[in-house]
This record gives sequence, structure tokens and C-alpha cells, in this order.
Amino acid sequence: MILRQWLGSGARAVGLGILGVMLAAGCSPEPPGKAEKRSKKQEKNGEAALVDWAPVPRALLANDAAELARALGQLSPALASRGTAPDIAVIVLDTVRADHLGMYGYGRDTSPRLDAWAEGARVYTRAYADGPWTLPSHASMFTGLPARLHAARSLDLGDPRKGAPLDLAFETVPERLRAAGYATIGIAGNRAFLDPAYQLDQGFDVWLCNNLEQDTRGVAYTAADRVAPLARAVGVREERPTFLFLNFMDAHTPYKARRGYVKDPAKLVKKVIPGNKGFRKVATALMRGKPIDPGYIATWVEAYDSELRFLDEHVGALLAALGEFEYVFVLADHGEYLGEHALVEHAKDVYEPVIHVPFLAKGPGYPPGRDERMIQTHDLAWMVLEAAGLPVPAEMERTAELAVSELHYTLKKDLGNADYGDRFNRVRRAYVSGAHKLIAGSDGHEERYDLALDPGEDRPSASLPALFDGLDARWTAARPERPVVPANGSPAEPPDEQLRALGYVE
Ligand SMILES: [Zn+2]
Repeated sequence: MILRQWLGSGARAVGLGILGVMLAAGCSPEPPGKAEKRSKKQEKNGEAALVDWAPVPRALLANDAAELARALGQLSPALASRGTAPDIAVIVLDTVRADHLGMYGYGRDTSPRLDAWAEGARVYTRAYADGPWTLPSHASMFTGLPARLHAARSLDLGDPRKGAPLDLAFETVPERLRAAGYATIGIAGNRAFLDPAYQLDQGFDVWLCNNLEQDTRGVAYTAADRVAPLARAVGVREERPTFLFLNFMDAHTPYKARRGYVKDPAKLVKKVIPGNKGFRKVATALMRGKPIDPGYIATWVEAYDSELRFLDEHVGALLAALGEFEYVFVLADHGEYLGEHALVEHAKDVYEPVIHVPFLAKGPGYPPGRDERMIQTHDLAWMVLEAAGLPVPAEMERTAELAVSELHYTLKKDLGNADYGDRFNRVRRAYVSGAHKLIAGSDGHEERYDLALDPGEDRPSASLPALFDGLDARWTAARPERPVVPANGSPAEPPDEQLRALGYVE
């Protein structure tokens, strides 16, 4: 049934005015040739027969929960009977580091609703992102592969504004689910690297992203108070099982001091809001090793935590409304530096603040409790396929005692900056097993840490267990890097203004 009780006042708050704005602003059209390439792939997969696409674009443009629900109701049923296939939801908390949530031991009250939900979930305490930024990590979730094998991982050194899209040749998890009869619906607050230009929307009947209303304060992403009501409107289909993928972007910069979520918003507004510019100035000084007022770090933490409280309120309410979904997975694509290692934000280096992420699973086969086994964002792929009762392809990797996170270069503003030297102009890989961690880089530099004794990775240690002997050479040799395949012969062209507003280019 469609959860009609959720189609209330929130859904009607947007209407024809928004439709007009969206039509005027335009929704990035697909580049020439891409639509043709897609339809060939759909033909190959028999997808065209599954879905009547016609009613969907209206819902995308209208940005209206009720309209979305109506359009979804018109999706052609693929199965005569849905059988026993369960409904599955995946919720990505973009940029949320594990250690700032209550269930992972944070002392401040940032996640009361998520913590309550987690009481009934399996909480993976040693979860790692495949890469410390959005694009590789999401591509790993959808392919079940580490970043070097799916190649949606690298900012092109020739023009680092441009990331490499996920090759259409992959048979993604949503594509497999759709072929099995699932209605596949994605709603993404991240308007930068989840833009359709990066082709992470493969296999989705509906992909709501850059065509959604932006945060009302002009922030270049869609906030949780817009994403959550749309997600509620999706509901659960009687005629087809539902796969619902959601991305919540609120913890990403620019941090906002949300009124009602911090004690002293005026103080934060003064320090954080006027600057995105001010923020960048101080952040740059920090990365250049210049002394900065420690109060800035405290302010960033306060603002970041206020975003987590806001997120918790909306995601918490949504989780309560998703009770009919048999499986719900909640995880982050990467974390965030808050001054550690002279860094802020993410997509830089592979220290714990950006790669240790929350990962929770609820549903049959996931008994509630803490699980100390290592797990990674790419493990979501086989977990979802198993939940759906579908075969798991042999090439999908399953993390056992070792987690690996890889960063292939970083952002244009960092790469080209002589003040940073070569710090960001190298590939870095983190290998974590138990409490031990090795960081190896393309420049030959290695760092070793004992995370039990030194969780801040401040004091390199000399010894590591035998597992780490020659590990970097062995692991990379077993996984030759897949070459980056640009879309239609040219790198993806995301809307620059989105990347700029989120701090990826200057
Ligand atoms: Zn992200």
C-alpha cells in the first residue's frame, strides 16, 4: 500500500510555484548520445519492458511528494505477484563520521532518535568507507567492488573538476533488483557527485537529485526536511517490492548553525555562516601549518554537531515511518575531518575521521547488537542482494579481517596548491586489521599505527602483524586498476556552481 497518511501538509507545501522555478532553472539535460547509450543498455536488460517511464518526469519536475506518489503508482507492475521479496531501504548519511554518534560512543547528544532505532539493529563498530569521498564510496555500494576496480574514483589530474562516472557497463545492484521486479527509487540530497552526470542512477526507476528543491537558505544541496517527506511518500508497493535508496547531505559543508539545534546560534552564525569564505580562509591556514585560534575548531565541531541533530530528527522520524520495510541499512559514505591532521572536510588522506563510518543493519539475519567484525561500504552490495534473495556475483568482494580504503588524488584547489606541497598529489591506501593500520602511498611513504594505543594516529609505530608484510604490493597486484572510462568519450560535466558551493572547486 502507499502510505497515504504521509501525504499530508508537508507534501502540499510545494506546488506550482516550485514547478515554475524548476522548469525555468532547467534540470541538467543528458549530454548527446548518453540517452541513446542508456536505452541500448535498457534494451539489453529488457528494462524498457519493465517500466513505463512516461509519468515519472512530471514528478521529478514537480518536486511534490503527492505527485511523486501518484507517478510511482503508475509504474508498470513487473510481476504478477510480488511473492516473498522483501522491501529494502538504504539510508546514506553523507559525511557522518562514526565517532560523532551516540551509538558509537559520542558524549554529546547528537543522535537520540538514531540511537533508539539502533537498539533493534546490528551495529557494525569497525566499518570503513572504500574511499573518503562520495563518488567512489557510492559506486562501491552499488557494484560491491573496491574503488580501483570500478574506477568511479579519480578526479582527472588534467582537469580535476571532473570526476570519472561509473561505467554503464557495470550491472549495479539497483539494476539487478529492478530486473528481479523491484521498483527502484533513489532520492539524493547530494547534488554534486550524485548528479546523473556520474551515472550512479543506473537501475533506478526514479532518481530525484539535482531536480529537487534546494535548501531554503541557498545551500547547494537538498536538506533532510525535503528529502524525508519525499521518502515517506514513496511508501511500499503491493504489486512490486520496493528498493528505496536515500542520501542525506546535511552533515556536509557549508555547516549551518541550525536554530533550535545549538545553544548559542548567534555565536556560530558570526563565525561559521559568513564564511563559507571565512571558513575557507582559516581552513587553508590550518592545512598550511599556520597557527589558528583553537576556538575555530570548537566552532566547527559545534556547527557540525548541530547538523547531526537536525539530521537525527528527520531521519529518526523517517525510520519510524519505514516500519513496513523488512530490511533497513543505515551507513555513511565517508566521514569528516574537524581539524585532525591539520585537515578539514574530506576527500583528503585516509585517516580515521574520514574512513571510519557508521554502518547499521536491521532485518532478518541481523540480530540486534554490536558486531566487531570489519565491514566496508562495498559490503552493502551483497547484503542487499542476499536480503532480496538474489544470487551474489562472485566478483563482489566481502570484507573479512582486512578493510582497505583508497584515495586517488583529491580536489583541484588542493592539487594545484604549492603551499601544500605534494601532500595531496599522491594515491594513499589505508589497510586496517584489528587495531593495526598501515597507510601506504604512491610516493613510497608508509605510516603504521596501533589504533588501540593511539586512536588519533599521532604516533607512528614500527611493528605490525605478519599480515601486513608486503600487503600493499600483494593487494594492489591482485586488483589491477580499471582504467577510468569517461562518459561518451569526455569526462562528466557536473554543474560547476554546485561543486563550488560545496567547496570542491574555487
Ligand atoms: Zn559524500
